[in-house]
This record gives sequence, C-alpha cells and structure tokens, in this order.
Amino acid sequence: MSSATLLKETGPREVFCGLTSIVWLHRRMPDAFFLVVGSRTCAHLIQSAAGVMIFAEPRFGTAILEERDLAGLADAHDELNRVVKNLLARRPEIKTLFLVGSCPSEVIKIDLSRVAEKLNIELKGQVTVLNYSGSGIETTFTQGEDGALKALIPQMPSSKENKLLLVGTLANSVEDRLIGIFKKLGINKVESFPPRQSIELPSIGSGTKVLLTQPYLTDTARELKARGAEIITAPFPLGVFGSQKWIEAGAKSFGVDKSLVQATLDPLISRARKALEPYIKNLSGKKLFLLPESQLEIPLARFLHGECGMELIEIGTPYLNKDLMQAELELLPPNTRIVEGQHVEKQLDRVRAEHPDLVVCGMGLANPLEAEGISTKWSIEMVFSPIHGIDQASDLAELFSRPLHRHNLLKSKTLQKV
Ligand code: SF4
Repeated sequence: MSSATLLKETGPREVFCGLTSIVWLHRRMPDAFFLVVGSRTCAHLIQSAAGVMIFAEPRFGTAILEERDLAGLADAHDELNRVVKNLLARRPEIKTLFLVGSCPSEVIKIDLSRVAEKLNIELKGQVTVLNYSGSGIETTFTQGEDGALKALIPQMPSSKENKLLLVGTLANSVEDRLIGIFKKLGINKVESFPPRQSIELPSIGSGTKVLLTQPYLTDTARELKARGAEIITAPFPLGVFGSQKWIEAGAKSFGVDKSLVQATLDPLISRARKALEPYIKNLSGKKLFLLPESQLEIPLARFLHGECGMELIEIGTPYLNKDLMQAELELLPPNTRIVEGQHVEKQLDRVRAEHPDLVVCGMGLANPLEAEGISTKWSIEMVFSPIHGIDQASDLAELFSRPLHRHNLLKSKTLQKV
C-alpha cells in the first residue's frame, strides 16, 4: 500500500477546459465533427489551440451563442437545429457529430442531449449525433476526451469475443508499435478505442479486457465495466518501467508465458535504458514540482523519480481516482506529497518557497514562473507528444530535460554592452 501523503485543496483554478481535447480527437477520428455550442471565446480557444488555417476545412467548429440566445430572446434549441442542418448539408461526409457543451451553454441550460436525441431521429442512417460537455466550469482539458469516449460507448456493439482493448488516444505510430508487441506475445485480437474512424467502433462485452493508456478516463472506464469489460490494473505505459509493467499486466491476463514476455521485452528495455542515460545525467537530483492540470502528473512523477532520479517536492493532480491510480501510487517513494484539486495562489506560494528546478504546469502559469527564474514545462505538451511505450521513454525524458538545458544556457550568458 502506498504511503504517499494525500491532501485536498480547493480554490481558484488555472487550467484549460475540456474543449482542448477536440484538437487531438478530431485528428484521431477524421470522419467525426465536433460542434462546440459556445461563445466567441470558446471559438478562439479551439481555433488557436488547433492552429488551423482559415482556408482549411476543419472538422470542428463553433455554433456561437449570440447575446439574443444568452438573454433568452431566441430559442437556442431551434437555432442549433438550423446550424446542424446547414453543416450536414455542406459536409455530407460527417459520420458522427459531437455537440460539445461549454460554459455559456451550461449557464443558459441548453439541453444538448435533447437536441441530439431529436436530430438522431430525423437524421437516422445519415449521421450519429452525440453530446458531451467540454465546459471549463467543472472539467480540466483531458476530461474532454473522457466525455467524448463515454458518449461513444452506447454505440459500441455487444459481443463476448475475447480481446484486448487499448483505451485512450495514442499517436498512431505508438499504437501500432504497442499492438505489434502484443501480437508477438500471441494476443492477436487487439483493438483500440477511440478507433481511427468513428464508425468503426469495437464491440464490447464479458470477453473484453481493457488496458487504459491514459489515466484520465474515469467515466469511460466505469461505463466499459458496466458493459461487462474487465479493467486490468497496471501502471500507465509511461517510461520503461511503467510500459513494461503495463505490457506484462496485459500479457498476464491472457495467460502468456512469462519467459516469452521477458524474451520479447528485454531487448527493447536495454535499448531504451541506454537511450535514457544522457537525460538521467541532466535530470538526476533536480527538484520537481507538478501543478495539477492533465491528470498525467502521478505517472509522470513516478517515471521522473523512479527512472530519472528527480526529487519530488509535490504532485498536484486535478482529480485522484484511487482505483485507477492504485498501481502508480504504490510505486511512489514514501511520504510523497500529493495534492488533489487546486488553490492556485497557495500552490504558487509553495512553489516559491521550495525553489524547484522544474515546474510542470499549465501554459498560463509558465510565463510568470519563467519570469521569476523558474524553469517550466507545459503539461499540455504531454498529450500532443508521442510519449507512451518503452521506445518513447527517452523522448519523454527529453521533454523535461530541455527546459533545464535552456535554463543553464541562459544562466551562463552574460549580456554584452553595446
Ligand atoms: S468552455 Fe468555458 S473555459 Fe472553455 S473556452 Fe469556453 S468559456 Fe472558456
């Protein structure tokens, strides 16, 4: 059992909202469209986060709530119906339409599930309309993916077929590599959720064993379990050790011989450990403070301490699901301080008092901390970079090594008088 010190904190938060996850979800499922029902702020956020050119045909958009909608002068449900029909007339290739709620749509209480239900009846056979919330009132940015996947689960057909299901969006190349390893171990039926096309949903049932690739899928895991799937307990596939334990847990649940697992993984592990060496030199002994944002903080801290030798000052996490995190918590050093939730002012006070070498935080906090001479790493980079699996461990370590290297370079520079 872990001896970490678990604390809770509430107060002002400084995190991205769940709309952000549309950026990686729309790339994952190119036959889907994400229609945010929100304000101009929401439109700006998603547009700039995705960095889409104005002349591109993006697979997301915003149905902007105007003042008349917000003041209750127009029927927002009717307006939304009209926008959806126009969109589908213009983009007949859309197979799944996600209506994504936002802070404004929640405040004026637009019932997106009712809109989706009506549209599904009208548009049966043409498109599936689903809804979830990306609102920043209650969610952090990775929970957007959790909401989207949860919305897809009722569409998954039932089957008792034995299979391994990898759950959570991964870079395609990383996913191919992980599936290749399981195939070498003799597990031939390996599928992914979300799939690469929204209409190619895997079936689910009592023969499905789920390996979560991402730690922020609490609702998704609960719904998959309710459909009969078994959730395999394992650390998450970050770093050499975490990925090894994750693969071993999957193999064990299919009764794969231990010696085959070892023979398959050993060459990968020794190559990856060698590739990690230069980064360990740079990271070892450095003090790390993680502020809560992505829910990846605990597995990252486990990797950066256990494999790279960093000293953990505090691990902040927006939410702590002790069931999903059990295997990770057991791997942390005794008395590690984990703080669930956020009071950003108090956390920043602790950061300043502890003088960490590196702070992992949201983009909004990074610049002010850098201005105070504290090196930072944006936590959002972890969801846009291919960091999962044994082979990727050195790339993951490099992400944390780079800001320290930059800091050293800047420190050694002296300003020349002109
Ligand atoms: S959903 Fe809320 S937090 Fe996110 S961009 Fe819109 S208004 Fe801002």
